[in-house]
Amino acid sequence: MQENIHPQYQDITVTCSCGHVFQTKSALCADLNIEVCNECHPFYTGKQKIVDTAGRVDKFAKKFAGLSLTKKNKDPEGKENQE
Ligand SMILES: [Zn+2]
Repeated sequence: MQENIHPQYQDITVTCSCGHVFQTKSALCADLNIEVCNECHPFYTGKQKIVDTAGRVDKFAKKFAGLSLTKKNKDPEGKENQE
């Protein structure tokens, strides 16, 4: 093996925001914090869960709060739609 051209490759500890901790090998050579892993990602759990790390879902909901496809209740002139 040629010397001084290969990166370090060590065991590291990965910690997920869900609390799952596991060991792996990486050339990063430092412990890692992640937001989603195979223990909590909907693809693996089979459960519906919104992975919203930056409040994007709330932002979207706020932006389009006044809009509705059916235009009932929230539309002040909703009586026109009932005819
Ligand atoms: Zn996780």
